[in-house]
Formats: sequence, C-alpha cells, structure tokens
Amino acid sequence: MGSLITSGWFSGPWFGLVSGVAVVRVIVAGAGIGGLSAALSLHAAGIETIVIDSAAALRPLGVGINLMPHAVRELTELGLGGELESTGIPTAEMVHFDRHGNRIWGFASGRNIGYRWPQYSIHRGELQMILLAAVRDRLGAGAVRTATAFVSFAESSAGVTVRVRERSSGTLRELRGDALVGADGLDSRVRAQLHPGEPPPRWGGVMMWRGVMEGAPFLTGRTVAVAGTNAALKFVAYPISRQAERRGRALLNWVAEVKLPGRAALGSLDRNGADWNREGRLGDVLPRFADWELGWLDVPALITGAPRILEYPMVDRDPLPSWGAGRVTLLGDAAHPMYPIGANGGSQAVLDARVLAWSLARADTPAEGLAAYESQRLPIVNAIVLACRDMPADRLLQTVSTRAPGGFERIEDVLSAAELASFDQAYRATTLPDVAALNSRPSLTPLPAVGRGVRVAADGLGVLGRLVHRLHRDPAGAPQPDPDAAVAPRAAPEGEAHVPRVLQVQRHPHRDVPVEQ
Ligand SMILES: Cc1cc2nc3c(=O)[nH]c(=O)nc-3n(C[C@H](O)[C@H](O)[C@H](O)COP(=O)(O)OP(=O)(O)OC[C@H]3O[C@@H](n4cnc5c(N)ncnc54)[C@H](O)[C@@H]3O)c2cc1C
Repeated sequence: MGSLITSGWFSGPWFGLVSGVAVVRVIVAGAGIGGLSAALSLHAAGIETIVIDSAAALRPLGVGINLMPHAVRELTELGLGGELESTGIPTAEMVHFDRHGNRIWGFASGRNIGYRWPQYSIHRGELQMILLAAVRDRLGAGAVRTATAFVSFAESSAGVTVRVRERSSGTLRELRGDALVGADGLDSRVRAQLHPGEPPPRWGGVMMWRGVMEGAPFLTGRTVAVAGTNAALKFVAYPISRQAERRGRALLNWVAEVKLPGRAALGSLDRNGADWNREGRLGDVLPRFADWELGWLDVPALITGAPRILEYPMVDRDPLPSWGAGRVTLLGDAAHPMYPIGANGGSQAVLDARVLAWSLARADTPAEGLAAYESQRLPIVNAIVLACRDMPADRLLQTVSTRAPGGFERIEDVLSAAELASFDQAYRATTLPDVAALNSRPSLTPLPAVGRGVRVAADGLGVLGRLVHRLHRDPAGAPQPDPDAAVAPRAAPEGEAHVPRVLQVQRHPHRDVPVEQ
C-alpha cells in the first residue's frame, strides 16, 4: 500500500473559476473508445476534463469493430471525419450466408441506405489512437494519464474525490473534481463501488476467436459477411483498413464464434475469464472450420494466416436499474457491457459520451446533468443489451441451418417472404436508427446561444463553450435531442451545419477569438 498524496491534478478547490464563472471539471476513469470520446465531447462543450487509465501505455490493441452511422455522425461532429475516412473502410453492405456460402439476405450499409454518414469497419486500436491523439492535441499532452488506476471515490456536497493508484510507484493519490465518469470497461471498478455485490459477467456459452490477416478483397471489397449460425458455428469477416485497400489489398478482420455445448448452463465467468487480450490457440479454432470453403472466402486460410489469434468469451452483464447517483456515473461498457454483435459496443459508447456532454453543459449542477444523461441513455441502451442476447436475425440463421443443413439453391425455398422481411426489420430495430431521424435531428454538440461581439480567451482548458453557455443560456431549456428518435426534419447543407462552432474556435487555442453568432 503506497502513501497517499493529495497534490497534483485537480487537487485544488472543487470549482475552477474563469472570469467569475464556475467551470465544471470531470474526471473520466478509462481511456477506451468511450472515455476518450467523452473527453472530446466534454471539451467541445467547454467542460474541463482529465482521463486516467490503468494501462501502462495506450497501445492500439484489439481487432476490428464497426462504427454505425449514428456514432460516425458524432465523431464527425467532433472533427474526426477525415481521420475515420482515411483509416477505416466505409462498409457497403452486411450480408448473411449459410455455412456453405449461400447468400440468405443482405442489407446495404451507411451512405448506401441514405444516411448522411458512413458506417465504418475499423481497427479498434487505430480508432482508439485517433481519439487519443485528438484528446492530447485539444486538451493538452497531460490530459490523459496512463498507469493511473481508479481505486475508489468519495462524494460530498462540494465534489468528488477520486483515489487513484500510480502503477509505477504504487503511490495512492487523490484527484478532486465535480463529477466522475466510470468508463473503465467490462470489469469497471467504478461500477463495482456503485453496485457492490454484482455477479461476474454473464456468459451465454459462445467463445469467440478473432484475428486479422492481409489478403485479397472479397465480394464488394467492403462487405461485412456473416456465415453460419450462432447456435453452432458462425464466421464473420470484413475488411478494416483503407490503407490496405489503397494498395489493392484487404486487411481482413475475422471472428469465429463457437457455441460450446452444455457450457451455457454455467451462466457466468469468473473475473479473469474475459480478457480482450487473451491469446487463443489455432488448434482450438481451426479444426472446427477446417471444411469451411465458402466459395468467395477461404475460411481456413484466413484463420491460419492470422499472425495472432485472440480468444474472448461472449459476455455481458444484466442491465442496471440505474448507473450512478449524484456526481458519479458510468459510460460505455462500464454501464452496459453487451455481446459484441450488432456493432453496438463502441457505437453506443460514443453516443453515451455525446449525450453526457450535452446534458452536463445544459445543467445547473453536475448531479442534474448526470441524471439527465442517465435518463436519456439508460432505457435505450439496456434494451439493446437484451436485444443482443437474442437477435431475431440469429434465430433466422438458425432456422436456415435447420431447414437446409446441406445448403440451398434458392433462399425462397427455405424461408418465406415474411420470414425474410423479418430479417430486415429485426436488423433495423436492434442496430440502426431510422435514416430520416438520424439525418435530421439536431446536433448533440451543445452550441451556445452566443451573443454578438463576446470575446473570450480560448485558453486550451476547454472553458470556452461552458463560459459562453453560462453567459447565454437558453432560459427555456430546449429539449435534448434524442439520438434514436425521429424529429422534425431540419435540413442542413452537407458538411456544414454539423461542424460545431465551439470546435472551430478551439482549433486556434493560442489566440483570442471573436465568437460569432
Ligand atoms: C484492450 C481492449 C481490446 C478490445 N478489443 C476489441 C475488439 O477487438 N473488438 C470489439 O468489438 N471490442 C473490443 N474491445 C471492447 C470495445 O472497445 C468496447 O466494447 C467498446 O469500444 C466500448 O468501450 P469502452 O471505452 O466503454 O470500454 P473499453 O474499450 O473496455 O475501455 C476501458 C478502458 O478502461 C481502462 N480501465 C480498466 N480498469 C481501469 C481502472 N481501474 N482505472 C482506470 N482505467 C481502467 C482500460 O485500460 C481501458 O482502456 C476491446 C477492449 C479493450 C480494453
């Protein structure tokens, strides 16, 4: 046990004062996709933020994930559209096949179905590095402190004290802020303190092996392909690198899912059982897919060609009735770990981040802001957690494998038109927001109602938006846009209306910048 130090970051008085205006300061525990998106969103809202992470260094870990258009919109509004475009693959379609490679059903993705923003298939680690670079660039090099593990928090009427352990020395240190956001992932320590006695993550009996290998592009070159059934064997593959695509190649991400018979009854794993970096063994996965030649994809070659195989049990946790209380809340996997299907883990974390910042920026107190954030996000995300446990699309894949185990010529001979239509509906309902609703809803960037001629110093601490917001707050309190609900169309010129003004100003951190109306 190290000694306790109370100097350092955020160890002064609870509130920072800028020109006599109180500035909320948020401590984010966890620098994953969720925590870093939160830092960028809070900063864009003018809220001072620091991020701590227990990892000794942040490295581009993981393999592929998909970012849905609703999350891409949010990251684009945070000014990261260009980085995403030059890094990820704009997904063209998602297609389901039987285990022989026969096409069951396909669904156009991203811009191909009318969203104003693409869906991206991207390396999770590269996405994290894009976010990290932006945080360090905008909030300052010291805004993300690694090797600093959240240990516990104590809340008072004046603020929240966060006890952290510095991994290098074992020293315990206290940080003080106005709010704490637990974005510390599946095994969140913040969640454990808020909700003591929770059982370990819940396992449905599916083990996933994952890998990445460079190869020839398949199908459209931008297809997410799902083959088989999650009741037995399922294989998912998609390209994740724009750089490889430019060379005429594909960096192919694959996930081999295996339902382990009888293991589902276990129901939960012990705490060490779900580690995103756990090494998998070729011998555990290859034999199960040895005869999977799909025609358009050589599955065994893909598995064998991966330089490294990762093993991860498909786990989640039961939804919580509340995430936090007072000045403390949860975000991303800490709040709602879900099965990594439907491309929702990272995407929902990004949406959490944006709504969190929006809510805090509009609130009179941190507790009020966090309560608004939770009431907005919790019901939506809890429903997604449950939907991911029993995707109707997966049920239909199972139906195909039962009715036509040896394959089929025409899917119409296997599934009725109504069953096929339900594929479509199920996918939309669990994974995608309505196209028109997403395209037209107001931005979640809390644009202040700025008064003409106001001059503020953009001091690099991210106080700008908060300050301006405080000065010019809409007394009526406009309702918060619901990321998933339809709203009246508000046409905006492509590429213009959603660049937040606060962000534009903050691109010039060393100058006094006039804020326009
Ligand atoms: C190393 C890693 C690899 C992953 N790979 C994939 C993948 O390939 N495909 C996929 O779909 N999903 C992957 N995920 C999960 C995916 O990133 C999340 O489901 C989703 O992006 C939501 O992210 P999050 O920020 O809420 O949580 P996470 O991405 O899990 O981030 C949590 C962060 O909190 C930090 N942390 C944990 N405990 C503490 C503590 N006590 N104090 C401070 N910090 C702490 C962790 O180091 C981590 O950086 C991975 C997660 C991790 C951590």
